[in-house]
Amino acid sequence: MNCEITEEATEQLKQHRQEQKIRNEAEENRILEEGSDDFRRTAKAGPLPRGRTKRFEKFHCKHCRLNFATSLGSMVAHAQSHKNDEVIKIGKVKGTGAAAGNLRPEQHTWNATTGKTFIGSDARYWKFVLPNSMLRDESGNLICSRKCGNTVEYSNQWSFQKQEKALDRHKKHEEKCKHKAK
Ligand SMILES: [Zn+2]
Ligand SMILES: [Zn+2]
Repeated sequence: MNCEITEEATEQLKQHRQEQKIRNEAEENRILEEGSDDFRRTAKAGPLPRGRTKRFEKFHCKHCRLNFATSLGSMVAHAQSHKNDEVIKIGKVKGTGAAAGNLRPEQHTWNATTGKTFIGSDARYWKFVLPNSMLRDESGNLICSRKCGNTVEYSNQWSFQKQEKALDRHKKHEEKCKHKAK
């Protein structure tokens, strides 16, 4: 075996990794800059927690004013969901571990079974964030169809399941409603 080549290869690999890291950081900074109207990073990724393969950073969302522990890509998708005027589900990490209580957007991670994104199996759904266009009063107790203006009773004090039911019904109505958007 030729030691010189091995050393050279190792050096090249190191250099490649360094360049890759700089490129990744430049790309991250570009995405952060682009999304600066929607969110900002509040903490850089710390050391990799035991048993984890992915590091989550912390971000503050300027739309729902919540702090999330998730990836940059998930934050971009979360911000887009706000811009699409969607109803957004927020999750909270379960248990008593170091990450317990951390908030996660619905776009946190990919579920291969359902083919959709979700909050992660170590979290539970905690809260809905509704688009302003859907809220009828400041207390958040009435939601309205954005097509016909029809109002439906709703409360963010209800259980998550009850809210989900009401919002599902509401969504079906909006999809079917023939009124033109104002
Ligand atoms: Zn948000
Ligand atoms: Zn309607």
